[in-house]
Order: sequence, then C-alpha cells, then structure tokens
Amino acid sequence: MRFSKFYIPTTKQAPNDALLPSHKLLIQAGFISQVGSGIYNFLPLGKIVLDKIRAIVKKELDKAGCLEVQLGFVTPSELWIESGRYLKYGKELLRIKDRKNNEFVLSPTAEEMMVDLIRNKVKSYKQLPLHLYQINTKFRDEARPRFGLLRGREFLMEDGYSFHENYEDLDREFELMEKTYSKIFTKLGLDFRIVEADSGAIGGTGSKEFMVLAQNGEDDIIICDNCSNAANVEVAKREKRVSPYKEEPEMVPGKFYTPNIKTINDLIDFFSIEPYYIAKAVAKRAVFDDASSKIVIFFLRGDDNLEETKGANVLKAIELIDVSEEELKESGLIPGFIGLDVKNIDIVIDIDLKEQDNLICGANEVDYHLVGYSLKDKFENKFADIAEVREGDKCPKCGGILSKTKGIEVGHIFKLGTRYTDPLKANFLDRNGKSQPFIMGTYGIGISRLEAVIIEQSHDDKGCIWTKESAPYMLDIIVSNIKNEDELNFSNKLYNELINLDKEVIIDDRKERFGFKMKDFELIGFPYALIVGKSLKDDKVELIERKTLKKTLIDKDKIIEFLKGVI
Ligand code: ATP
Ligand code: MG
Repeated sequence: MRFSKFYIPTTKQAPNDALLPSHKLLIQAGFISQVGSGIYNFLPLGKIVLDKIRAIVKKELDKAGCLEVQLGFVTPSELWIESGRYLKYGKELLRIKDRKNNEFVLSPTAEEMMVDLIRNKVKSYKQLPLHLYQINTKFRDEARPRFGLLRGREFLMEDGYSFHENYEDLDREFELMEKTYSKIFTKLGLDFRIVEADSGAIGGTGSKEFMVLAQNGEDDIIICDNCSNAANVEVAKREKRVSPYKEEPEMVPGKFYTPNIKTINDLIDFFSIEPYYIAKAVAKRAVFDDASSKIVIFFLRGDDNLEETKGANVLKAIELIDVSEEELKESGLIPGFIGLDVKNIDIVIDIDLKEQDNLICGANEVDYHLVGYSLKDKFENKFADIAEVREGDKCPKCGGILSKTKGIEVGHIFKLGTRYTDPLKANFLDRNGKSQPFIMGTYGIGISRLEAVIIEQSHDDKGCIWTKESAPYMLDIIVSNIKNEDELNFSNKLYNELINLDKEVIIDDRKERFGFKMKDFELIGFPYALIVGKSLKDDKVELIERKTLKKTLIDKDKIIEFLKGVI
C-alpha cells in the first residue's frame, strides 16, 4: 500500500473527552473517528486491525469445532418477551418500532435468537453438542459510554452459544473455550488473567472473565502473590481473618451508655478497641426482579466493607440501593445504633463473624451499644460471604497475600444451563427418549474493545505500538526525500519485492518532510520502519524498531534477506 494513495487522517488534536491513551491515540493516528456518543467509524487502518483480530478469533474457534453464523441485528421483541428479558434488561436495550408499529430491539446479545435458530430443528441428542457463534454488531445503550472503543454503545462482539445434552458435556466445552480464548489473547500479545466472575442474577453454575491487566481498567480484580488464584472483586474470597490481638480482649457482657457515639471511628475511640471486634451495620434496600423491594441490614466487621454484588446475590436481588435515615426510622430502626437483634427486618451476617464473641454492636436503642455480644450458636442460617476482600487478606487456596489490581474485561465464558431454553421451550429427545431443554453455555469476546486494549497495553508518549499479530502493516518504508531519484527508485524496488513475498508493507512516498513522516510512523505504530535516506550513498539503509526506537544500519544488498527474518 502507498501512503500517497491511502486515507490516514492523522491529527495533533486529541479529542476533548479522551481520558485514556487508547482513545486519544486511535483517533489521532487515524484508526477511528467518532460519529456520536459511543458510536465510532473504523477508518482504513482501524478496519485492517479489526479484521486481523476477527481472523485470529475465527481461526481458533473454527479449530475448536465452533460454527460461524450471522444473525439479524434487528430482533423481533416477541423473542425477548418470551424469554422474560424484555423488561428486565432495562434501559440498555434499545427498542424500536417499524412503520407497521411492530416492535424490535437492537441486539445487545443473542441468546434468544440463537435458541430460536435451533429450536424445533435440532431434535435429538444425536445432533449434540453444537456450538454456533457470530462476530457481529451489538448495541447497548450504556449509561456512560466512554473511553472510545472500550465502552461504546455500538460495538463488535464475538458471541458463541453451545448446546448440550447434559452438564458434563457443558463442562467439557467450557474448559475447551477457556483454552481457546486463552490461545486467542496470548496470540494477540496480551497480558491477561482468567478470573472467577459473578454469575449474576441469571444464575448459572460457573462464570469466568478474561481480564487484561491495565491501570486504566474499570474492573477491580483480586490476585494472589503466590498462586494463580484470581477473581473479580465481586466474587473474590479470602481465608478467615485472624484477630489483631494476641489474646481476646476481655469484655463484660452488657448494655453501655454511648451518647451520640454513632460511627465506627467514634466506637474505636470510645472503647479503645480494634474495629475487628465491632459488628458494623450496613443498611440497603434490595430490589428484586418483580420490582418489589425491602430493607436489609448487613453486618460486617468494623473495618470490612460490604461487597454489593455478593450481598445482592445472597438475596437473589437485582441490586442494592442506598436508603435514607428517614426510611430507616420509618421501619423502626435507630440509625447509628442498629444491632444484630433487630426485629422484623432481614439481616445477613458476614461469614467471617461466624462463632465470634466479644463483639460490640448497636443495642437498637438510642445512645446504647451492647458489649461482649456473642454470635456463638446464633443466627444459624443468616451467615454468608458478603465482605469485599481487602488488600493484604489471605488467599483461600494457598494462604498467599491477596492484592488488588485493575483489569479490562476482554472475554467472558458462562455456564447458562436452561435459563433460556426453558422459557423458550427449546427441547430435544435425550437418550431415554425423554424431552429435555438444551443445556447451554455462552461465550463472548469484545472484538472492537480489543483494538483499544492492545494500545492500552502497548503505547508510549509518541504513539501506538502494535503487536505483530495485530499490526495493520509490519513495515513502513520511509522514502526520506522523494525528489532524490536513487532513494525513490530503491524504495519502490524494495517495496515491490516485499509485496511479491506477501509481506505486509506500506511505503511512505508522500511529498512531505522526513521529520513529518517519522512522526506519523511513531504515532501510528507500525512495528518497523525502514529509512531510505542519506546513508543510501554508502549502500546502507536504516531499520527502526518502533517498540524500542532502536536503529540498525544494514547493507542495502542484504536487506531483503534481513527483513525475511524480521517481518
Ligand atoms: P462489562 O462488564 O465491561 O460491561 P459485560 O459483562 O456487560 O461487560 P458481556 O455481556 O460479558 O459484557 O459481553 C462480552 C464481551 O463484550 C465483554 O467481555 C467485553 O469485552 C465486550 N463488551 C461488553 N460491553 C461492551 C461495550 N459497551 N463496548 C465494547 N465492548 C463491550
Ligand atoms: Mg461480562
């Protein structure tokens, strides 16, 4: 490809709302342009990269026996009503009407469509397993589209759906997909971790996310410094904590006058006690599927925080929202003094407090706390793991130290079971001739998000640095001065030879200053540039590696042989 004939609108101007390097650089280097909030065009360079990512994903999936299809993007609402997701999906689902007033949604994911594709057609266990996938546009009306391609409203996703006769076979496919996705992200040159993830309100029996480690990630992940254990903070577990004291503090059980002592810090000072021994009450309103809600009090150690996803999952709620003091008072609660013996209110106690005695907690009475409170043999079925893992907690698998880091989700694999095949009545005849709903798995990769993730992990202050597998072109031949015939002729000859060798090269044959072309090379981030300039008089050309900006002088006669080994 010739630069002079190509469309690469590079610009010095960074978009005003761009906070992250990948967002800035992909626009400045002419890979994408913005159309509207969370909607982007892919320009020629951006499209080449997108297609490369897509091809890598397709190749590995096809090798694993998955079959590519392409579903309609505009989906009849009936399917969503049938599955029960039409209202539940909320505002992210874009609903539209056609001229005859028929309702449709723009596909944010395709469980319903894929189940519909096979129901009444796949009839017997003999036709299973089956794994169908597509690489197609998705639309989610995200509340906060931002960070360019990382969180768009319209984006490209690989979404796969597998159908099985039993859970053992689903487990087998899940493992195969874990391996296949790992291969894909490794090939793309990404530093990632597979983390245990939340299965959410959908339920399911297992869920793992592929997280690329990045400072700018939106997800908090917990990793062990000693073993491979890694989990999204929403589901991360820890070993039981140990007391900060060598011996248990001595407490005489009783009710204490604690005038206006309402916060954890007040209590720590008042009683000179570690927060470990305080049972803190966190009040939330749990909101359910059917739009009903109720106030729930969560009890945790004074220096632990409620992990809301864990809390919601225990209650099978869709979310937990904050409650005001007024609401608490209306429910007969005494803010600042809420204790474990509350009446007529649901409670959940963090598992770390099980069997704990010597606690301080509210007395459910204004200005009073209970001291020496014991949970021994009490609240049998009220305990659950609801605390957020803290930096420094111990790994439940190996006892190593846990720490927090940030990640960007690039893939997600999920055991669905019969969540969709049940309501959509998608059945097959099993080995005993009995009609059963298909057991399903679902898998997804953010194809367009990956284009940004690669740059998020690989850039410097000058611009993008593409990995070998994702680079739009491997080599940029820079003709230093196109008016110099020797330089231009040599460059053209070299370019043609490399093209004949099927190498991915672009030649910068524009009538621009050398410095300008170099800047574009650094901004766009091709892995290598070959400078054909002044040293050609001495029969030399100069190869620059983008990543290190290291220069190597090479004899012009040996350059083809040399490049064969590099690109
Ligand atoms: P997130 O937690 O980041 O919102 P998700 O869990 O909703 O993502 P999934 O439904 O699991 O996403 O979709 C599969 C993949 O699609 C994700 O792993 C991610 O890479 C990609 N993806 C999801 N939402 C977006 C988006 N708004 N823009 C770009 N890619 C996205
Ligand atoms: Mg996900």
